[in-house]
Amino acid sequence: MNAPLIDPFARAITYLRVSVTDRCDFRCTYCMAENMSFLPKKELLTLEELDRMCSTFVGLGVRKLRITGGEPLVRRDIMTFFRSMSRHLDSGALEELTLTTNGSQLARFAGDLADAGVRRVNISLDTLDEDKFARVTRWGRLPQVLKGIDAAQAAGLRVKINAVALKGFNEDELQRLTEWCAERDMDMTWIEVMPMGDMGETDRIGQFWSVEDVRAQLAQHYTVTDIPERTGGPARYVKLEETGQKIGFITPLSHNFCESCNRVRITCTGEIYMCLGQEDRADLRAALRNHPEDDAALEQAIRAAIALKPKGHDFDYSRQTVAGQVSRHMSHTGG
Ligand code: SAM
Ligand code: SF4
Repeated sequence: MNAPLIDPFARAITYLRVSVTDRCDFRCTYCMAENMSFLPKKELLTLEELDRMCSTFVGLGVRKLRITGGEPLVRRDIMTFFRSMSRHLDSGALEELTLTTNGSQLARFAGDLADAGVRRVNISLDTLDEDKFARVTRWGRLPQVLKGIDAAQAAGLRVKINAVALKGFNEDELQRLTEWCAERDMDMTWIEVMPMGDMGETDRIGQFWSVEDVRAQLAQHYTVTDIPERTGGPARYVKLEETGQKIGFITPLSHNFCESCNRVRITCTGEIYMCLGQEDRADLRAALRNHPEDDAALEQAIRAAIALKPKGHDFDYSRQTVAGQVSRHMSHTGG
């Protein structure tokens, strides 16, 4: 392997999140406007370019690869990409290949994902109420996602449920969701809503429900024990003693994870974002497209970008205005 990727703050970059599409079959209110305009196809990295990009990162020491979007499973032929990435699992270069999905296509693809070496999958699910599900996702239907979850578990994939904490929306389902996940032996992560993109009429600040409060409410029903697990990202974990579940809390707005941050993100257009909360980015697509035969140029562009990884980010909710708001959509950068 070539010299590993170490940023100026001595953090080794071992985790890569890649958005493979900006498109999605849902229109979650906190993520997209209903009338989204998507990028022209030629702007997106091809599957071959995605392969080259990810393989180069693996060659530089990335051990965990998370595929996201948009909805990764609506990208045409995405299984070709997963199957191709599995060679890095076979060689031992990659420890984990995983994805974050809304679950809508899992009934079709869970078996293929398992065959490609995927062992775990994060599935986003904010509510177990069919009407509320249709309201928050606009275009999604709950039974389809529940079938997807069943298929994932039947294929042997370990499922973790991601829920966005939304004030006045799923507060009243905290216990129901927890119990439902416990019955199915699924861990859960609660995510604080982030100020991303222009969400139309949706009032983001009104929706904010702090994960600290989620935790406090859980503690009214369960014995909550901190666990020291750190993944290099913004999640903190507890165990619910009664159910044995691991519950994660993601506070993307806090700074308390920046010092151990081990990750970078690639958008579906091949831009690298060195920090989720900042606009610092670099174009890797040019290096890919201008040097189709030569990975050295890409490697050099990656190293130059990592050298610019900032120490931390700068969201600030404190004055009820969304200061430090990041204008791009999560579906573009990849959540
Ligand atoms: N479509 C897939 C899904 O929904 O799981 C993958 C992409 S989605 C952008 C990744 C994660 O980001 C989801 O768990 C989603 O709930 C979360 N997300 C989207 N917009 C968000 C926001 N504004 N604040 C916090 N989380 C958000
Ligand atoms: Fe699609 Fe995921 Fe965004 Fe919902 S959160 S609109 S499923 S990309």
